[in-house]
Amino acid sequence: MLTRYSNYINGQYRASESHEDLTVFAPATGDACALAPNSTEDEVDACVRAAHAAKESWSSLRPIERGRILYRMAAHLRSNAEPFAEIERRETGKPFWQPPMEIGLAANYLELYAGLCNIQHGEHIDIGPQYHCHTIREPFGVVGLITPWNSPLSQLCRGLGPALATGNTVVCKPSEFTPGSSLKLAAEATEFCGLPPGVLNVVLGVGPRVGAALVGHPLVRKVALTGSVRAGREISHIAADRLIPLTLELGGKSPNIVFDDADLDAAAVGSINAIALNAGQVCFAGSRLLVQRSLYDAMVGKLRDLAKSVVVGPQQDAMVGAIATRAQYERIQATFALADADGARLVCGGPCDRRENWGNGWYLPLTIYSHVTNDMTIARQEIFGPVLSVIAFDSEEQAVAIANDTDYGLAAGCGHAI
Ligand code: NAD
Repeated sequence: MLTRYSNYINGQYRASESHEDLTVFAPATGDACALAPNSTEDEVDACVRAAHAAKESWSSLRPIERGRILYRMAAHLRSNAEPFAEIERRETGKPFWQPPMEIGLAANYLELYAGLCNIQHGEHIDIGPQYHCHTIREPFGVVGLITPWNSPLSQLCRGLGPALATGNTVVCKPSEFTPGSSLKLAAEATEFCGLPPGVLNVVLGVGPRVGAALVGHPLVRKVALTGSVRAGREISHIAADRLIPLTLELGGKSPNIVFDDADLDAAAVGSINAIALNAGQVCFAGSRLLVQRSLYDAMVGKLRDLAKSVVVGPQQDAMVGAIATRAQYERIQATFALADADGARLVCGGPCDRRENWGNGWYLPLTIYSHVTNDMTIARQEIFGPVLSVIAFDSEEQAVAIANDTDYGLAAGCGHAI
């Protein structure tokens, strides 16, 4: 029997009038685990109107009172981490250890912004004695949060914390692949933590229909999206037409640079962790490893040995879990052929490396390519999977030039003697 999810509007689950169901899959098995509506425009409208109706009373609460509610939500997440973790494991395919860590992170975000509730202030600007010039911070009103599947709850809370702390009300459109934990948080924040109905609403469905309708709704005054460059570009047009502010957190192709005076063992461990975390489905994954030529071969050897010890699969002690969506699973595998065609050398992993206990789960081995140059497709495209490209460099200037030669900009790391 599949779980059937509903939208969460004004403090209640409401059965959808949409006749279109979306299937939520369990990446660890490839089986369906839930159904969710692809909501209608009327349902987006109902969510936004509920948030709009709640904004007056929420924004007029004293900030310290909003902060208390955020602290309660954080405490609720911490003391109920396991049921939230179970949903995230099921819908994202994460390994056993990871969701509790991320739920702690989600609680941290809420606590951080709960603390900031008390220090919101404007500024006095001195433009002469005959004037009184000051700024007052005011909420936008209804904020739309569009979140991805790679870390659903922590990504939600990273946007929710500042939005609620500053007196906004929220409509969240979680990823259609992983809606469960966001719905649970919205319902339990209302039921157990004192969050008034309507302050946090959740509308389910696919991005180009439901997410876009949210961004285009005339009562939505600000939007934050974490997701792909494609989605960011698409909603930028809508937001620009409406002249509303947009916060985008998009992709990355982050370089880690290892110089020849670095601690090679530490750098190898760090490089493996940087690509293995969440099976590389992290915007700041260290997917390009730049290694000074004199230690290149030694480093590749160490990476190969370490990669062998990384346990991937459904077992409890696995470090790396499944790929979160079937489309992503197929997309990552398509890059193996591109790497071969470009002349990269497979060090470990790759298309033929499948383990018996993976069954129909969407698991991929930790894959390393050496002799990669920065013009190859695997060095340029964000693969968003457990695929590491190792690139050689000769001088610091060259390393910096390669690191910066990317269409993305997000994170970078450096291994150097201190
Ligand atoms: P995605 O863009 O397909 O989906 C992200 C969210 O946007 C989902 O809720 C989706 O339904 C919605 N969406 C998609 N198209 C939309 C549209 N046209 N209008 C409105 N909403 C739309 O991305 P994804 O594949 O789910 O996530 C992976 C991408 O997200 C990667 O590129 C990754 O780098 C990026 N990401 C970035 C960060 C960060 O903090 N910078 C964090 C996680 C993921």
